[in-house]
Amino acid sequence: MIPTGGIVLERIGSCHRCGHCCRGVFLNFGMGHAATQEERDCALDFLRWASFHEGVIVNQIDEDNAEVGFDAPCRHLTFDKDGKSSCGIYEVRPRICRDFPSKPSVNCPGFRFKGSSETSSEKKEVYDEQG
Ligand code: SF4
Ligand code: SF4
Repeated sequence: MIPTGGIVLERIGSCHRCGHCCRGVFLNFGMGHAATQEERDCALDFLRWASFHEGVIVNQIDEDNAEVGFDAPCRHLTFDKDGKSSCGIYEVRPRICRDFPSKPSVNCPGFRFKGSSETSSEKKEVYDEQG
């Protein structure tokens, strides 16, 4: 169970060792705080602008949440001959790595959250298509 701002999400699934979570730096971008349509339009315009940049990935998770990612693989990410990923510093990896995914992420095909159907198989890079 993952506590997220008072809401407890139940995570189900298992790691597929695809390595997607280690291939970039992804930051959550919430739009739920936008008080007016103008503020919301401004946030959407920022996401659209960000998607124009080479190496930047913008994924929409739901109506109010997106991920902005930088295509920058971790230097400790390795793959075996079968293409399965491993962490070169597994025992001392950062907390953010241990906890991932702590909330629905379109980058992770292995886990989903009860009540959410978000997986990478439903990956949406809607802003990239608006170029
Ligand atoms: S993205 Fe998900 S399934 Fe893939 S390696 Fe990371 S935790 Fe495992
Ligand atoms: S430290 Fe390990 S688990 Fe964390 S991003 Fe790098 S390779 Fe992945």
